[in-house]
Amino acid sequence: MGEGRQRRVLIAGFKHETNTFSQLPTTLDSYNARALIYGAEIPKKLRHTKSEIAAFLDACATNGWQPIHPVYGDATPSGKVTEDTFEHITTTIINALRDEAPVDAIMLALHGAMVCTHVEDGEGELLHRIREHTEPDLPIAITLDLHANVTDQMADLADIIVAYRTYPHIDQYEIASEAAELLRRTLDGEIRPACTVRRGNMLDGADHGRTTAPGPMTEVLESARKMTSNEGVLSISIAAGFPWADMRDTGPSTLIVSNGKKSEYADMADSLIDQIWQSRSRQSIQTFTIEAAMASVTSRPTSEGTFVLADYADNPGGGGYGDSTPLLRAMIEADLQDAAYGMIYDPVAVQTCIEQGLGGHAVVAIGGKIDPHFGEPIAVTGRVVTITDGKLRLEGPMMAGTPVDMGPTVVLQVGGIDIVLTSGRFQCYDRMYFEHARVDLTRKSVIVVKSAHHFRAAFGPIASQILVVDSGAGLTSKNFRELPYENVRRPVYPLDMD
Ligand SMILES: [Zn+2]
Repeated sequence: MGEGRQRRVLIAGFKHETNTFSQLPTTLDSYNARALIYGAEIPKKLRHTKSEIAAFLDACATNGWQPIHPVYGDATPSGKVTEDTFEHITTTIINALRDEAPVDAIMLALHGAMVCTHVEDGEGELLHRIREHTEPDLPIAITLDLHANVTDQMADLADIIVAYRTYPHIDQYEIASEAAELLRRTLDGEIRPACTVRRGNMLDGADHGRTTAPGPMTEVLESARKMTSNEGVLSISIAAGFPWADMRDTGPSTLIVSNGKKSEYADMADSLIDQIWQSRSRQSIQTFTIEAAMASVTSRPTSEGTFVLADYADNPGGGGYGDSTPLLRAMIEADLQDAAYGMIYDPVAVQTCIEQGLGGHAVVAIGGKIDPHFGEPIAVTGRVVTITDGKLRLEGPMMAGTPVDMGPTVVLQVGGIDIVLTSGRFQCYDRMYFEHARVDLTRKSVIVVKSAHHFRAAFGPIASQILVVDSGAGLTSKNFRELPYENVRRPVYPLDMD
């Protein structure tokens, strides 16, 4: 780069966590439903949030780089990304590389578990396509979700990879700042980073990445933190993997960014993998059946505060359809009072409720529409107590400030249960999903969320007790042995060994 010219850094986001067992394809509509934004809209929507993009933009401002931000896309986890969708977002990034040349560096916010209909390793393919249009030494820094399945292709093609270190994920901004600082040091000629990734024979491990209580994940993160002081080690990430993506490299991985590549870094990464292997059977949470959870809820003294129940098996944040009904059915049958349920994805039921109008009585069949194998629709009569446009801003701690648009949303009161029905599929990890619809959580004794673990950041502080319910009825149940894996490398724990 010539002296005096301002550095130009391309920033983009293309995220997806693909549940390959889902029959819902991931299309441009899926991205539009969550986030698909272009150009000047990107800083307008994301600048003052806790997102990776905000950190990238701040790094540009701090370092005097000129940001180029063609596209940011994120979709709720679902089935494979269609070829058209992948091509559209990838081409938008590549066109910007060409049209905005010269570009001195690239920063990408990715998830790291994208599987497409035409290619297994979505992020690897994206990087491959980008590399076809850049000099081999143009530095690329990427951030990944803690639940990334990191492939060799990704580690070969990116110079800097940093993954979140918290689950619930509340450190996107900090992780992206770390990646951006390594990029700055690279551009300034201080370091020449390279990535080394290692995997074990595991589909799932490190307690699925939970960092809310001491356990396998916090222990391996601590080992990684100590290793980071070793000569030449720039950053270490532990990815717990996303087991519901059936691809060759699925599972936990350890990733070292080092100054130059040497076999000793592979040995370090292997020792961390070994630690994950040794702890593979340890879990920091206990899951309950629906029967056990209902028994616990109905027998508690009323003075005991708020019970928060997680509908673990149908978590839209992991690709669950968001409309499975067995837990809600059990709540209705138990005639729970002062209860709230968030959320059931059912655009048809939402329309029926809207037609009845506010205060009207609606007779509807809710949920169970996408795959009734996970629970039939429930026929209910309820009162429509709220109708909203489904627009809200997350209050955090996770992704605080991020705008969300769920589409038309209603609260249907069935007996003592306020049920939030939505037109979009969203994981319920923020209190605003209820509060924007005027569900007063301070008056609830039972709150149920379709979420596996992220809900703890926002709902933990108001819960007197948390029960994680794995009904088996959903695409994110931990019954791995019942899923039709075809592509993951074998043998692999826990499919082939205990
Ligand atoms: Zn994650």
